Amino acid sequence: MKDPVRVAVTGAAGQIGYSLLFRIASGQMLGEDQPVALQLLEITPALDALKGVAMELEDCAFPLLTEIVQTDDPEVAFGDVNYALLVGSRPRSKGMERKDLLEANGAIFTVQGRALSSSAASDVKVLVVGNPANTNALIAMSNAPDVPNDRFTAMTRLDHNRAKAQLAQKTGTSVNDVTKMTIWGNHSATQYPDIFHAEVGGRSAAELVNDQGWLESEFIPTVQQRGAAIIEARGLSSAASAANAAIDHMRDWALGTPDGDWVSMAIPSDGSYGVPEGIISSFPVTCSGGEYSIVQGLEIDEFSQGRIDATVAELQEERDTVAELGLV
Ligand code: NDP
Repeated sequence: MKDPVRVAVTGAAGQIGYSLLFRIASGQMLGEDQPVALQLLEITPALDALKGVAMELEDCAFPLLTEIVQTDDPEVAFGDVNYALLVGSRPRSKGMERKDLLEANGAIFTVQGRALSSSAASDVKVLVVGNPANTNALIAMSNAPDVPNDRFTAMTRLDHNRAKAQLAQKTGTSVNDVTKMTIWGNHSATQYPDIFHAEVGGRSAAELVNDQGWLESEFIPTVQQRGAAIIEARGLSSAASAANAAIDHMRDWALGTPDGDWVSMAIPSDGSYGVPEGIISSFPVTCSGGEYSIVQGLEIDEFSQGRIDATVAELQEERDTVAELGLV
């Protein structure tokens, strides 16, 4: 058996946490031969609820779960961690402007960035799930001088998985047939799910579908608005599929993407595809040996470029707002 790795989860007593922790502890994220210690962070008023979740984790008697740490101190939660899943964030409340939301989350993610910098293991990999995820990740990264920037990522994998499911339904195939899907930009309603490089059973998805009307009026808005549609139908947010996507994101980053396919991750831009440096934006990436690299050389047509420009512009605005607030 391997040595245990340490996995921090923030907002661990929340809805996503409740779906996520059991899957990490059962080996679905890092493999069935990888023992894990869970280090769970919550705000002080939620520590009792967290205790209940920890009791349930114990009662599963997971063979791979070596330890459960429960704390409201980020320095403790991030102590020697190899993986950090930042799920907890301040939800938008009624009447709250975007600037207020960025500011409220800035208070959380500056502190967590500093704590990761001072406490985490040198190989730490960070995934931000809590919204606005891309900019929260930028804030944490900017406040973590001792962690390399490329370890900070944000989640667009749920959007990626949603796009695959929609395309499989449209083409009467299975998600197993759909490869090379791409989400560009921000995890928000401006994100661009791009099927122009996607394949269905090895054939060009765009040629197979050949329906620009469906693409613009159904596919893109359905993927962009899927979270709201689930809240409308269920009365609760899409916590289980978000947790599933977080597992997918970390698993592929740690263990690699399959040959002949890629995934979507929001990562610090290196300027590829004209996306300016200084923002955390979603790209098509492959992963191997615990590192990701952007898929290069894709041709971007005018339609796609316009969509990418719009979502990147939103990220730049968010970056400018948090810069004005002194958070990055
Ligand atoms: P959830 O667990 O449902 O959601 C947590 C975060 O994930 C939210 O920011 C949410 O964004 C985001 N998210 C990203 N993708 C999705 C998706 N597809 N569906 C739903 N959410 C998504 O929230 P809860 O309120 O149940 O739990 C949050 C927990 O975090 C609470 O227990 C709270 O105490 C804790 N918390 C912890 C902090 C800390 O550890 N320092 C700081 C702040 C909160 P959105 O808001 O857009 O739905």
